[in-house]
Amino acid sequence: MTSVSLRRVSKSYGSVVAIKSLDIEVRDGQFLTLLGPSGCGKSTALNCIAGLERLTTGQIVFGDRDITELEPHERDVAMVFQDYALYPHMSVRQNMSFGLRQQHTPRAAIERQVATAAEFLGLTTLLERRPADLSGGQRQRVAVGRAVVRNPSVFLMDEPLSNLDAGLRIRTRTEIKRLQRELGITCIFVTHDQEEAMVLSDVIAVMRTGELQQIGPPMAVFRDPVNLFVASFIGSPAMNIVEAILEPDADGITCRLLGQTVRLPQDAVRPENHQRLSQGQKALFGIRPTDVVVQGTTSEQLVGRAFLIEPVGPLAYVDVDIEGSALRVTADPDRLPAVGEQVTLTLAVGRVCLFDPQTEMRL
Ligand code: ADP
Ligand code: MG
Repeated sequence: MTSVSLRRVSKSYGSVVAIKSLDIEVRDGQFLTLLGPSGCGKSTALNCIAGLERLTTGQIVFGDRDITELEPHERDVAMVFQDYALYPHMSVRQNMSFGLRQQHTPRAAIERQVATAAEFLGLTTLLERRPADLSGGQRQRVAVGRAVVRNPSVFLMDEPLSNLDAGLRIRTRTEIKRLQRELGITCIFVTHDQEEAMVLSDVIAVMRTGELQQIGPPMAVFRDPVNLFVASFIGSPAMNIVEAILEPDADGITCRLLGQTVRLPQDAVRPENHQRLSQGQKALFGIRPTDVVVQGTTSEQLVGRAFLIEPVGPLAYVDVDIEGSALRVTADPDRLPAVGEQVTLTLAVGRVCLFDPQTEMRL
């Protein structure tokens, strides 16, 4: 177990800059997720930590040890990949113990470590099977088990759940989280799936085209995104974004949007930006579907016409047409509007995010 620091880490392949000056701190025992769209440099960052890629510039430190120049086997990391390449001719037990046998670990210790990991992962009754006789989820658990038995200081996982079907993904991610918590291993996990990142992580590092956008606890990144990219990438269904004109005054901000008016509190804009706001300033007004409800009672409201209704069980999403723009909102599934019905929408004004349309940064 150890902390991990990436200090201004960059990696280029010829003229392609895969990651650019990443500064990331992972505390001992923490679960950090690198999150971002395909091609943003997540795997490159993970491979640099594993020692599978050399850095172009920068430094990687485990605890107080600079490991930048160390070979992969000297780093005490274990890695799980998306395609969990198990040895087909070996049993689960042999697959799990392979790394330890290579290191000439004493037989009794191997048996103990494999038994413990198998117990953790619900593989005890499957130890004599071959990979071909396992389901996809069981195979992925063997791959996790094979990494865990080595008792690494740092556990690295590159989209380990991507090949599993939906139900299995959810169960396996719960197992990974439980295992990581119980073993207290520092973990760096890569995914493009924002929901996976939200449920698993202590800290999420959001990346875009090789650059770190924001790093913080899941709910901080969800509630307080630094820019339009993070706001749009995190959360499903996605945040509504509409153009607005701001009229700031002494005790709040009047927002004109979709031909209507919404009044926001002063702290809808960050203190350092209060001075910068001008009358008639253009902004992008962001609000999550779950922060706008059909009916409701509080003061800040918009009016529109429901045109698409999607019940998802505990709640329903309703697409509402306002002046030709669509706003996705939430409704009580037991009190749904009819398609075409005029609806009144209540906004949680404290949850509105305003962005500069030019820089796409939060105002
Ligand atoms: P992600 O894992 O987020 O999908 P990657 O780290 O795999 O992204 O890739 C980041 C960028 O680096 C991409 O533009 C990719 O094409 C490029 N890249 C990755 N590996 C290589 C390589 N070996 N040679 C050249 N370019 C690469
Ligand atoms: Mg990748």
